[in-house]
Amino acid sequence: MPENFEKFALRARRRFFISTGFSILALLAAGFFKSIFLSIALFFFVLLLLASGFWEIIKATKSVYREREERLSILASLSDGIIQYSADKKIIFMNPKAEEYFGVKQKDIADLKIVPDLWDDKPIYRALVEIIYPELAPFTLARGGESFSSEKGIEIHTSRPELRLFVLSKEIKNTSGEVTGHVKIMRDISHDALISKIKSEFVSVAAHQLRTPLAALKWTLRLFIDGDMGPLEPKQLEFLNRGFETAERMIKLVNDLLDAARIEEGRFGYEFIEIDYLDFIAKLIKNYELVSKEKKISINLFPVKDLIPTIYADRDRLLLAFSNIIENALRYTNAAGKVDIDISLEKDYVKTVISDTGVGIPKEEQKRVFSKFFRASNAIRLETEGTGLGLFIVRNIIRRHGGEVTFVSKEGKGTAFTILLPIKRELIPMREGRAVEEYSEGI
Ligand code: ADP
Repeated sequence: MPENFEKFALRARRRFFISTGFSILALLAAGFFKSIFLSIALFFFVLLLLASGFWEIIKATKSVYREREERLSILASLSDGIIQYSADKKIIFMNPKAEEYFGVKQKDIADLKIVPDLWDDKPIYRALVEIIYPELAPFTLARGGESFSSEKGIEIHTSRPELRLFVLSKEIKNTSGEVTGHVKIMRDISHDALISKIKSEFVSVAAHQLRTPLAALKWTLRLFIDGDMGPLEPKQLEFLNRGFETAERMIKLVNDLLDAARIEEGRFGYEFIEIDYLDFIAKLIKNYELVSKEKKISINLFPVKDLIPTIYADRDRLLLAFSNIIENALRYTNAAGKVDIDISLEKDYVKTVISDTGVGIPKEEQKRVFSKFFRASNAIRLETEGTGLGLFIVRNIIRRHGGEVTFVSKEGKGTAFTILLPIKRELIPMREGRAVEEYSEGI
């Protein structure tokens, strides 16, 4: 309730109370003193009090209306659509943007219950029905594999009219904690999606064009290094080796860019098969035996106590994700450090923790770790190589498998990445979606 309303209402109540008191006094005075003059004076006094009470009520009502108008005009001017509906799914409020999205007026549907059957019975309300029941929409993507009722927001594509909306939901509860309704805030992301599509298509084409000449360059250098073009001086060999490594780095960057662009467009392509998980991890560790020995870092697989079942996954994509995490652990850990791998079962998931004793990630930078092109300040200072695309790719691969990747890190102490992968097929999304940017921060 607006503050002014309370103030005016309190004053009015007080005046009505006092005037009642004086009315009784007037009656008593008239009876006791038998003075008509005193009675008339008291009567006018009571009248005055009553009038001022009513005046306060008018002021209170006006202040409520003014504040209501102000709120409505703020909601009306918002570029996001807002709907509020009751627990029995009746629309209580719709701002003009939401009316524009759905092509309906709030007053026309004030008494209509938005039930799933409307999707068939009244196709003109389809988009509205799909926002309230996201499972009916042709495309729905919940952030991080969360449920459709997640407050973090979900992307919904509606069928009629065709919209791409990012939707935040909030339950409304009364003082006893009962859910009395919902509010949904919707943002049209079709423009963002178009821009992001054009951008990733451009990156895709550019990276593709760069790959062939870079590969040719690399193999030409290899011919010289291998002595196929005649013997070389040690100094010449050193320069050619450096050129070769640079070409390899550029190929890695181009490949990462291509992968990231395909992930963003939702066309990375996955082929799921049954995988013996422990065998997969053992082979992965073997791939890094040499590098870890060179860097004097030990990789230790802890004895696995739980019985780990096979998992349903794309072997190559999963290998790419795990290689990225192990390579990071080796890259950001100094000699004599160690990398531990601990595998266990956690409810419906296989949990793998890969921890290192490396440089860690500064606390204030940790929230950006999974963003594209992010490289922590300490990693840049160390002059380590990297594209900042690895963990973006990792997270999307793991999420495509119905899993999640998280980490804890302490600067100067080390970092531990936890990867959860489902053991039940029904926990794996049916198809690949586009990678979703974190819109919720801006909404
Ligand atoms: P990069 O190619 O730079 O390694 P990633 O996306 O794989 O890109 O990682 C992003 C950044 O996260 C890295 O540049 C580094 O700052 C930080 N990082 C990732 N893994 C680790 C780790 N194990 N220890 C310390 N920092 C890490």
